[in-house]
Amino acid sequence: MHATTRRAIYRRLQAANPHPTTELEHKTPFELLVAVMLSAHTTDKSVNAATRKLFPVANTPQAIFDLGVDGVKEYLRNVGLYNGKAKNLIGLCRLIIEKHGGKVPSSRETLEELPGVGRKTASIILNMVFGQIEIAVDTHIFRVANRTGLAPGKTSTAVEVALMANTPDEFKKDAHHWLLLHGRYVCVARKPLCPECIIRDLCEYKDKTQAPKTQEWVKASATRATSARAPTPRKRATAGRKRAAPSRKK
Ligand code: SF4
Repeated sequence: MHATTRRAIYRRLQAANPHPTTELEHKTPFELLVAVMLSAHTTDKSVNAATRKLFPVANTPQAIFDLGVDGVKEYLRNVGLYNGKAKNLIGLCRLIIEKHGGKVPSSRETLEELPGVGRKTASIILNMVFGQIEIAVDTHIFRVANRTGLAPGKTSTAVEVALMANTPDEFKKDAHHWLLLHGRYVCVARKPLCPECIIRDLCEYKDKTQAPKTQEWVKASATRATSARAPTPRKRATAGRKRAAPSRKK
């Protein structure tokens, strides 16, 4: 993809949503860390439903740690993989209390040491809490980057490297959210909404979906099909002669 096309894509995404942010509800860096960690392989909606109950009761490392694994599970039952996530959450709180004085650590290395925190979660925290330029790649961003041609790659790491290398500097801070939201609501996995996509003319995806046909188009198409099948008067006459021929031989 040409650099000017890439820039044009980001300009349009920016114009449509100048201040993109996460849909995970949070009020503090620690709440964001917990919400992002819980959101792995599940929807933001289910995480928000859980944290709306959990955070009013416990929203600090010590308060959540005090709930214990079984106590925290009660709040996470509707979150995918909640058994493992409950254990990780208590382990994460313990490490933050013991090694980081109860504060969310600010380096990739220390973040990725926390149970349940991988590269993607660390990138989101570094970007949103500590203002670092990071483009975390999740399943939506992976799909959008490959379909559009913005940053093709076979793995999420390859896509991340390509995005970091190709995204113009002024768009890097928000690229994660623009691409994620575009993938979640427009460039969806099964049937992307190409006819209403604001970057349709810039996107390089070969199999773009078409707009649904209107009633008028369907009627006109049916008329065309009927006319094409109906024999002309000359054809009807010829057909009649051909049918009559065998009886004359008898
Ligand atoms: S045109 Fe279609 S494939 Fe391309 S980004 Fe938009 S929704 Fe995705």
